Amino acid sequence: MKLPIDRFKELRTPFYCYDLSLLRSTLQVIKDEIEGYPFVVHYALKANANPVLLNEIVKTGIGADLVSGNEIMAALEAGFSPSRMAYAGVGKTDWEIETGIDNDIYCFNVESVPEMEVINEIAARKGKTAGIAIRVNPNIDAHTHRYITTGTTDNKFGIDVPVLDEVVEKAVSLSNIHLRGLHFHIGSQITTLEPFRLLCEKINELVEHFEKMGVKFEMIDVGGGLGVDYENPEQNPIAPFHDFFNVFKQSLKLREGQQVHFEFGRSIVAQCGALISRVVFVKENSIKKFVILDAGMTDLIRPALYSAHHKIVNLTSQKQEQEIYDVVGPICESSDVFSTDEKLPITRRGDLIALLTAGAYGESMASRYNMRDLPQCHFC
Ligand SMILES: *Cc1c(COP(=O)(O)O)cnc(C)c1O
Repeated sequence: MKLPIDRFKELRTPFYCYDLSLLRSTLQVIKDEIEGYPFVVHYALKANANPVLLNEIVKTGIGADLVSGNEIMAALEAGFSPSRMAYAGVGKTDWEIETGIDNDIYCFNVESVPEMEVINEIAARKGKTAGIAIRVNPNIDAHTHRYITTGTTDNKFGIDVPVLDEVVEKAVSLSNIHLRGLHFHIGSQITTLEPFRLLCEKINELVEHFEKMGVKFEMIDVGGGLGVDYENPEQNPIAPFHDFFNVFKQSLKLREGQQVHFEFGRSIVAQCGALISRVVFVKENSIKKFVILDAGMTDLIRPALYSAHHKIVNLTSQKQEQEIYDVVGPICESSDVFSTDEKLPITRRGDLIALLTAGAYGESMASRYNMRDLPQCHFC
């Protein structure tokens, strides 16, 4: 992504910098890949709901994948069409369900029988029919971090395959819901295609099974989870959409008129954002050198939360010589560490540091812990 360092020098840090032209190229790649296929793409707002980014994304006509009532409101405000909104989450409250029904969203991705009953009840009270998909837990290991694996049986998400018959029958029997299809989302930052191939096989089995029971699905939602390259963002600024879509083009047996829905979060926005910060101090103890930034886990929590690593670049050091540093934030938590044993050119107080690939789950997870200001943002 573009990093206009001269402009950065006058700006107060820390801030997120977003490259809108990279976002546009990413969206164009997706558009080209799905051309001619019955594929519908949604953007998962939880990855980054910055209104400027949403404004770019909504222009391409893609839908919205939502996980709270406030996200439904934000998506409406940004101009997403309710007919292209899907709402997932294990704990939808009554007002959130009402918000979805009042706005006639396309689909609730239902995660339990009690939830399905409440959606039916609320829809009945309003004299409406709510579209739903059943979120299936396919018990596929996405081989990603355990905090972002969602499709295995020890996980709170979705409904297990062994009880699916009953749940589908129940959905068909309730009069104020309309069963549109099945929903899957097996995890995030998935960097091999094998889990997606396994998912296709599982879907083919299930679609065939339910067809025999006389149940047809207008839509299969395969979720998101496509990973991005955190270690070499400059070489791979756009996620491998071509190979990813090929798996579904080749492996999924679609029925007449059936659509496949995709819900990308990270793979759309991650590479378009960098967190820019200044070095406050360089500190040394008997065994280590620390680079202490003015950005911390309140701005970018992924390293503290899931041991994630972002590529770190010193934007202003002219030094050829390198040193090994631990790069840390200023927050009063021992987990406020961006990287240990990071090789950087000799770094000084005042240097500008970029944490790359920070467009997804960065700004959207920022907090005010330690009473810090939320990070600013700028666009280039
Ligand atoms: C978070 C989420 C997504 C997006 O996941 P990414 O890994 O960011 O692509 C898609 N669908 C659901 C249901 C989600 O919860």
